[in-house]
Amino acid sequence: MWHHIQHKMPSASANKFAETLGEISKPSGRVGQVNVHLFKKAKQEWEFLNHTIDVKIKMQDKMYCPPCGKRPIMGSSDGIVKLMRLKSAGAVRKSKNERPELQTEKPFYGDAAIKSDEAVKARRDLIYSKIPRTKQKEMCGGSVFKAARIDSGKDHKSDETGLIVSGCRHGMVKGAINMHHGETFTHTHFIHHVSWKQNCQFFCNDVVCKYWKFAIRVGKVFPQFMPMVNEMGGFLPRMHAKAHYLTCQVLWNVHWKKRTALTIGEEHEQVFSRMSQFGYVTKHMTKTNRENFLSAEFFYWNKRKLFRMPKFLRNRLLKVRILFYAVFKT
Ligand SMILES: [Zn+2]
Ligand SMILES: [Zn+2]
Repeated sequence: MWHHIQHKMPSASANKFAETLGEISKPSGRVGQVNVHLFKKAKQEWEFLNHTIDVKIKMQDKMYCPPCGKRPIMGSSDGIVKLMRLKSAGAVRKSKNERPELQTEKPFYGDAAIKSDEAVKARRDLIYSKIPRTKQKEMCGGSVFKAARIDSGKDHKSDETGLIVSGCRHGMVKGAINMHHGETFTHTHFIHHVSWKQNCQFFCNDVVCKYWKFAIRVGKVFPQFMPMVNEMGGFLPRMHAKAHYLTCQVLWNVHWKKRTALTIGEEHEQVFSRMSQFGYVTKHMTKTNRENFLSAEFFYWNKRKLFRMPKFLRNRLLKVRILFYAVFKT
């Protein structure tokens, strides 16, 4: 029950739920309290066991979107800063209470949903070894949505400052990485590479017009990344495109790209509107707990999306038919 409550009610408190369980079982003769820490740990272990059954026995791929198939139209990338984690979270007041094993604890789900920080750091270091860092803002038009940078400064209060999430055109999560500073083009490049490995045809980003130049620059220095640019196209999400210069609105608008099939490019915002509610919880978690929790939440989200997919696809088809007949009925 707690598994569903936690994922459906973002502000629900595990402590209060355990207390409630204690209150319910007291009249039936329970002695002592429900141990909150054990309760939380047991729930995590139970969730991971279920995940392992799904993956190893039922052979499910939790990040696979059946309507997209093996050649998805779009992989997107955008940052969500509300899923941050405070540096002070999990810190002890007295050094004698320090538990070194917590520092080396690995997340249960590995990089099934959230890619490892080491891999992201290695990629960023590789790019910065040949391309110099700059604090210059890469903006286009009067863009109020985004202030993308090739590099960014540090946030002293937070350890993880947020998450960059990649989604498909059906609103399913395909992967994510942690941010430890602001969102930069090197982060976007990592997610772009993830989308390329997933065989996506297009990459969608809020400042793709500026990012694409960066991706070509990286491809010229590191030829192994050039196919990402040559084999994929890029486009702007429909709403964000409105804030770009007129030339971008023509050249990079998803509406004018062939084989994009009425993709909006804002589908990941659905994920964000849900995920941002967990910010109150994740900012006080330890690093491993946060990653376990968010990975489980992504799997839960994708599972729910899959259940609703038939109705969603049917409605979408209906809308396309109405549009088609409105335009071509004469
Ligand atoms: Zn999809
Ligand atoms: Zn632009």
